[in-house]
Amino acid sequence: MKRVEVDVAIAGGGPVGLMLACELSLAGVKVSVFERREARVKQSRALTLHPRSLEILALRGIAERFMARGRPLPSAHYAALDTRLDLAALDTTFGWTLILPQTLTEELLEARALELGVGIHRAHRVTGLQQDDEGVSIEGSCPEGAFHARSRFAVGADGARSAVRTLAEIPFPGTEATMSVLLGDVVLSEPPSAPAVVRVGAEGTLLMMPLGDGVHHRIVVCDPDRLRVPLSEPVTLEELSVATRKVMGSDYGMKSPFWLSRFGNETRIASTYRQGRVFLAGDAAHIHLPAGGQGLNVGLQDAMNLGWKLCGVLQGLAPASLLDTYHRERHPVGQRLIQDTLSQSALFFGFHREGLALREVVARLLRVPEANRVLAEQIAALDVAYPEAVLPAPPGMEAPPELVGRRLRDLPLPSGDGTRRSLYELLHDGKWLLIRRPGAPTATSRAPRAELPGAWARWTSVVVADLPGEPAALRGGSAVLIRPDGRIGFVAR
Ligand SMILES: Cc1cc2nc3c(=O)[nH]c(=O)nc-3n(C[C@H](O)[C@H](O)[C@H](O)COP(=O)(O)OP(=O)(O)OC[C@H]3O[C@@H](n4cnc5c(N)ncnc54)[C@H](O)[C@@H]3O)c2cc1C
Repeated sequence: MKRVEVDVAIAGGGPVGLMLACELSLAGVKVSVFERREARVKQSRALTLHPRSLEILALRGIAERFMARGRPLPSAHYAALDTRLDLAALDTTFGWTLILPQTLTEELLEARALELGVGIHRAHRVTGLQQDDEGVSIEGSCPEGAFHARSRFAVGADGARSAVRTLAEIPFPGTEATMSVLLGDVVLSEPPSAPAVVRVGAEGTLLMMPLGDGVHHRIVVCDPDRLRVPLSEPVTLEELSVATRKVMGSDYGMKSPFWLSRFGNETRIASTYRQGRVFLAGDAAHIHLPAGGQGLNVGLQDAMNLGWKLCGVLQGLAPASLLDTYHRERHPVGQRLIQDTLSQSALFFGFHREGLALREVVARLLRVPEANRVLAEQIAALDVAYPEAVLPAPPGMEAPPELVGRRLRDLPLPSGDGTRRSLYELLHDGKWLLIRRPGAPTATSRAPRAELPGAWARWTSVVVADLPGEPAALRGGSAVLIRPDGRIGFVAR
């Protein structure tokens, strides 16, 4: 029997498991990823990285790697409505969605994980899990026969059919799929002149866009007469062609499929993201119609939220109660994701007259910049805030609800010596960051390190610089303590 002993065992080496492993390893936590597949799948489900995901990658100094491989698009669709969401108008350095196939996202995250020394065990399938007061034991099968991993904590990032979720007996309430949608990544010998095609009508719903590899187009099509076809039924090129011709009048000479599949709108969210020493993240925690390209993005953000909290507790820098805030902060985000994708489902599949009329009304409303911004911020995940302090405030600091948990965009921070470093650059090490205004006469500003007691001092980098100008409420303050995920933690007035 192969035996592994680590601080954190992660089941699932998809994007979420890899992102979490990077966060843990960055802080020096010993982590192993157990992935049932021998190699990464070449087909990509997700094709996009949205603004907040790009921000969290930038918070760790790796966004450029992703930008170099993808194509930024300054708008996104909402339920394939005629009015697109304007991402360029958002308050972020990343006013676009990055078209990047999931397989590349995974390749880049895996490379980073390996750089950081993560143990990635491929062809390791998790089949058993028990937890006790001290830790978690995971069992499974592997090329050597069987493995046993002992860890302080375990995370199920093992996707929609999560074994960890089942083994931990975490309920996954929600609704079954009521429709099935065809997906094909194919070569078009007569591609349309427009880069992206969207059509919703009585004949069905269709989206078509280049896959980004210069060869294939992705076609997603739903035939109202074939909504109940089981997801397990194999898709043929002929079926995709017939459905495409029904909606568009042409199949654009489709041939040479790289991937043919079906997906549905099964919608569920785990009743808890934490059970004792076991956590869920990504698709293991929430599944839904892939509308608005959000699942992978929200999963990466789950990983970011959980990562620094596990590090803090494992390194004795924070009380174990910090781990409860993972569910408290991320479950509501998962619930909102569920609401959003259900609402997009209604718009996507409104083939009847009432549905088409509703689409028209919503598209018209989205021409109002403020309405457009609300949905754009939601898809971009820039409007997520966590208004409760996750830890007791350090001496001399407070946690005003209007500021706590708000994300800060990246910006240059001019310091007293004339140098300008970017806020996100200062968070690359994954620690808390205390920004102290030069000459601010408060107890928190006497000396760069002595001002934060004990564990805080070990977990915090300190910089003397002008405070960010936004949100405006920070301006009058003397110091701000920023969480490792780039959100406001505490302020000193
Ligand atoms: C058609 C389609 C299009 C999509 N488009 C987008 C998009 O544009 N943008 C977006 O954000 N999201 C999109 N999504 C959703 C996105 O693909 C998922 O949300 C994302 O893959 C979730 O990542 P994950 O790491 O949580 O799970 P997964 O990617 O499913 O990874 C889980 C990993 O766990 C492994 N595993 C499973 N069971 C075990 C076990 N017992 N032991 C060990 N390993 C195990 C699996 O092999 C897998 O590698 C789309 C989904 C679909 C179906």
